Amino acid sequence: MRIADVKTHVLEAKLSEPFAWSFNSTAIRGACLVEIVCEDGTIGWGECFGPAALNAAIVAAFRPHLLGADPLASDRIWMHLYNLFRDQGQRGLTVTALSGVDVALWDIKGKHFGAPVHVLMGGPIRTEVRAYATGTYRRGHADPLGYIVDEVAGYAREGFPAVKLKIGFGVVEDAALIRACRDAVGPKVGLMLDANQGYDVSEAIELGRRVADCDIGWFEEPVVPEDLAGYAEVRRGQPIPVAGGETWFTRWNFRDVLTARAVDIVQPDICAVGGLSEAKKVADMAAAFGVRCVPHVWGTGVGLATALQLLAALPHNPPRHTPLEPLLEFDRSEHPFRQAVLTASIEHVGGVVRVPEGPGLGIAIDRTALERFASKHAA
Ligand code: CA
Repeated sequence: MRIADVKTHVLEAKLSEPFAWSFNSTAIRGACLVEIVCEDGTIGWGECFGPAALNAAIVAAFRPHLLGADPLASDRIWMHLYNLFRDQGQRGLTVTALSGVDVALWDIKGKHFGAPVHVLMGGPIRTEVRAYATGTYRRGHADPLGYIVDEVAGYAREGFPAVKLKIGFGVVEDAALIRACRDAVGPKVGLMLDANQGYDVSEAIELGRRVADCDIGWFEEPVVPEDLAGYAEVRRGQPIPVAGGETWFTRWNFRDVLTARAVDIVQPDICAVGGLSEAKKVADMAAAFGVRCVPHVWGTGVGLATALQLLAALPHNPPRHTPLEPLLEFDRSEHPFRQAVLTASIEHVGGVVRVPEGPGLGIAIDRTALERFASKHAA
């Protein structure tokens, strides 16, 4: 089997209302989907995390090196593309673009062998995954102690076993919001924090100590991702488990994270870290270090299905009769085409999402949605 064509679909949609996190805001949602077509007609789909048009430009640069290649030799292709751009491309966009290609190759591999990706990766360890709700972005100028607390309580009512709260706006304000959210959902719903790199080390330690009695599941991206020593200091200086990973790339970046004992939980984004191939390597490496792996998920149903495939194949660590199960990050913020790109949407029932069981990623793409949401700005 040979690769006959490589295409990208740059999608974009305006939001009904912009939303913000600690250091930025957005008024649109975008995505770069990768479509790899084989000579026998098999088609694989992948998604790249990050600026869509820039990802598409890099996938276009990969294209001549993919045409004619054997799509089943996914590790060979991964190393070839990585080596081509290695000197300038060890992190960031080169790796996010490579991620979309790698995911599409796994989709092809699954379709070729008639098996879901998680089976080819040694699963299923599990056929459904508990999901936690991601949302609580800042909107407008209303008081977060009102609308954010209501939003968190709404996710709990929907049946989500856990909710992640956006912080990183100031220690005192954040601590008050965390306490109000814990009071609103009661003791049974998990509550995690995501500072989106919004603190320095001292602030992060202070925040962690202030809310130590709020039973917080993890403290995500307390400081900037370049500061691994700072991560380790936060971990030592306050009692909440520290998490991070959506802006770390490849096995080599995560090797440094793990040897620095920087986190309790790694959160590689499969569409950023280097694809399913690399995410599996990172997850296995994390297990060897005794560190949990809860993948970061952001984007369309393609990224969601990709994450479910990996989650279905993550081994229990440590093994026991009542093992700690990984969670699916289920973004609940507005996304006009998250599910529209799929012919059958991926939904939760009472906070639980079933792993797609069809070949490859187990999804089918709605091409009318690709046309409907095609970016007007893409070349
Ligand atoms: Ca995050």
